[in-house]
Amino acid sequence: MSFREAMTGRVANFPLLRALFRFCLVLIMSSLPAGALWAQPLKASGYKMVGDAARMRLVIQFDREPEPNWFLLRGPHRLVIDLPETNFAVKAGDLKARGLISGVRYGNIGEGKSRLILTSKGPFEVEKLDVVKNETEPGYRLMADIVAASERQFEAALSLQVETTGSTHAAPKADRLGKATPREGKRFTVVIDPGHGGIDGGAEGLNGSVEKSITLAFALELKAKLAAAGKYDVFMTREKDEFLRLDERVRIARQHEADLLISIHADTIRLKDIRGATVYTVSDKASDAEAEATAGRENLSDQLAGIELEEENHEVSDILVDLIRRETHNFSIRFARSLVGELSNNIEMINNPHRFAGFRVLRAPDVPSVLVELGYLSNPNDEQQLQDASWRGKAIDGIASAVGLFATAKIGAGG
Ligand code: ZN
Repeated sequence: MSFREAMTGRVANFPLLRALFRFCLVLIMSSLPAGALWAQPLKASGYKMVGDAARMRLVIQFDREPEPNWFLLRGPHRLVIDLPETNFAVKAGDLKARGLISGVRYGNIGEGKSRLILTSKGPFEVEKLDVVKNETEPGYRLMADIVAASERQFEAALSLQVETTGSTHAAPKADRLGKATPREGKRFTVVIDPGHGGIDGGAEGLNGSVEKSITLAFALELKAKLAAAGKYDVFMTREKDEFLRLDERVRIARQHEADLLISIHADTIRLKDIRGATVYTVSDKASDAEAEATAGRENLSDQLAGIELEEENHEVSDILVDLIRRETHNFSIRFARSLVGELSNNIEMINNPHRFAGFRVLRAPDVPSVLVELGYLSNPNDEQQLQDASWRGKAIDGIASAVGLFATAKIGAGG
């Protein structure tokens, strides 16, 4: 509470006294030297937003401690940060939409208060919002970590702020991810991601097959198979020939609170004799040079489409997030191993078929994720198989039974 709030609060029930007090306050303030700190608006500078459509960090520098008050608004999904009166000295370019944030506005809202409004592309959660004293320079910085979430998680955070305060103002610090409150009766949810699309065609086969069409056709058949089991909710990142950024694919998985993300690919390789399927999980260190090259090619998707890559937000060092990430990674590996086991009963795999590398599409912190290279379009036999309905049926059966095993182990939905 500021000095002024404290004083006006104490005399609030006595209008005459209050008027007198205000008059005196004005007198005192006008007679003070211009440098009197407490009478001056805060100064905000050095606005910075980094991240992508799945996760963003916002950092604003202040000359003094800002004591922000934040809350959520829907329609569109917004984060509102209220501050004492603040002069914003920020570059317009730093405010331009990026990643999860589609717009930033700020300004004075009267009564010595200023407001900053971040509009999001979709539902999100505030993982953390903190003010930290700068270590090496004067001043403070406000830091907010915002992650893409499901509509349900956004609504839950919104109702929590109503419950705890009786108004939408003064939201609690939500140092948690949505997974801490699992959805009641939620079915095991699979998001299938057909690789490439739109302007990014992916690899091209010797006989003219285009990867983006092969992955979409396969993914639609896989979706039908999983949906027919009647036990899962199944979603696609794309259902038609459209371009999607890699981080958008991650955001969609989070939006559906997916228990599993399966990204489908069929790339080419320099060695034309190599054939068979591969299952990849994410890792900062690649299992081998070929895996590293494959991840490098897949990660180029955004640049191929002419999209400027944002700096990646690697600063997150929240213990809870790290724990969730590690647990998710273990689940990804467990599913990958099971998938290799089931697929190798039905189709040809390459040597050491579980490999790992730094695929950006597999980086959801809380969604176990694998990328399946069904085969190589650079190999004529593989290309032919990918066009063959009975081969696809066998591959899909293998994936479906691995999903069943994983779901049973995780929440007992696989029956
Ligand atoms: Zn691909």
